[in-house]
Amino acid sequence: MIEQTKLLRNLPKVDELLHNEQINRLMSKVSRQIVVKVIRDKIDDVRQKILNDTVDQSILNQEELDIDAIIKEIVNSVEGQNEMSLRKVINATGTILHTNLGRALISQEVQRHLCEIASNYTTLEYDVEAGKRGTRYAHVEKLLMQLTGAEAALVVNNNAAAVMLILSTIAKDKEVIVSRGELVEIGGSFRIPEIMEQSGAVLKEVGTTNKTHFRDYSHAIDMEKTGALLKVHTSNYRIMGFTDEVGLKELAELGKANGVPVIHDLGSGSLVELKEYGIFDEPTVKESIDAEVDIISFSGDKLLGGPQAGIIIGKKEWINKMKKNPLTRALRIDKLTLAALEGTLRLYLSDDVTSRIPTLKMMTETKEVSMLKAEKVFNGIKNCQHIQVQLIEGFSQIGGGSLPLHQLPSWIVEIKPIHYTVNELEKVLREGSIPVITRIHKDAILIDTRTIEEESIGYVIDAILETRPNLGVNQ
Ligand SMILES: *Cc1c(COP(=O)(O)O)cnc(C)c1O
Repeated sequence: MIEQTKLLRNLPKVDELLHNEQINRLMSKVSRQIVVKVIRDKIDDVRQKILNDTVDQSILNQEELDIDAIIKEIVNSVEGQNEMSLRKVINATGTILHTNLGRALISQEVQRHLCEIASNYTTLEYDVEAGKRGTRYAHVEKLLMQLTGAEAALVVNNNAAAVMLILSTIAKDKEVIVSRGELVEIGGSFRIPEIMEQSGAVLKEVGTTNKTHFRDYSHAIDMEKTGALLKVHTSNYRIMGFTDEVGLKELAELGKANGVPVIHDLGSGSLVELKEYGIFDEPTVKESIDAEVDIISFSGDKLLGGPQAGIIIGKKEWINKMKKNPLTRALRIDKLTLAALEGTLRLYLSDDVTSRIPTLKMMTETKEVSMLKAEKVFNGIKNCQHIQVQLIEGFSQIGGGSLPLHQLPSWIVEIKPIHYTVNELEKVLREGSIPVITRIHKDAILIDTRTIEEESIGYVIDAILETRPNLGVNQ
């Protein structure tokens, strides 16, 4: 046993450590006050451990405290505190619109524009031609009209805000008729009945979970009380078997015949037809417009592949009313989002949009490309002694509450560690300098390269190769 008094005498003083060169260098990044606090806490911690006889081997050098090791821990701790909390991760899960990992990736092409807008004065609410005040929505309004064929458009923070704004503007204190099959909950916090209540509209449920007929809607319409008919896309689930729902066109006609506006919460809102890529069950914005629905809303960061935003398009009469609603000011979109949204929407004017928007590129990645990317990882790690690696066929998911039943066939790298558990391997990859987020399936780690950008594959390979020393496995 090492003698306590000797170790206590060995304990460095705050002043001594402050003179150390490595520690001194920290003060160019963070204040002296923060560094002093970390040093004090570390010394206190070591002192306590000496007294409890629980000093870590890592800070001992034979019978003495290893001051260099302590300094290193202090430096790591200060640098750790100085690290950004919101930072890049590598998504190796294969779930394209991973809500916890930030949903859609903004295209690299939009990046420069985004940085320029962030650090300069801009035309945000200034009309250069007229030399006077303009509106922030003008930057995307015409584009949205052009791309969708709608009469007017408005953008707010997210689709939840969009639905709330629509209901509050159109149907406050009135009944909104919704099918019982469409009372959705998205991601645990967006629930149609609750949003409805917040907006001041009154939910009027019709039909049953599996079947809602035209007559259910028409019987529920009351000239005095009805404010709107609402159709909600069942984004994250499907009702199958003995089912029936009323199509958009019929619903739009029913609304028109009764002078009641029809709202469609489209959820994802794809601007491109995905059928040619084998994706059939996601309604497009165009289908809603063609059905002549009065107001349509969808997210900016789901299948559209842009920033978080709630896009509202539809009849001018209603959009103008929404613009005047004080709630619009509270839900207004910021300039960075606008820059990313305008940049993303402009990509839709090109012919090769599916290769320029990361979300669409990942969704339409062929099995051949999937094989090439997976092989690259496989070849990089196949000779590694401490893991068993093989390529397997599997499926990626779209995620973000979109296309719940649609699975995208992929080639996947399956890794089985030999000397340690999958949970240990998953943790080491997750805690690397750039976290690599993987999936665990049974006794293996799955690396799905569909959601890994080409440039990051090398990092993933290195991260896997480096896992052994970190785990302290002897070989
Ligand atoms: C995702 C979704 C929402 C919520 O959209 P956010 O942009 O996440 O606020 C609302 N309705 C439907 C049908 C959805 O799919």
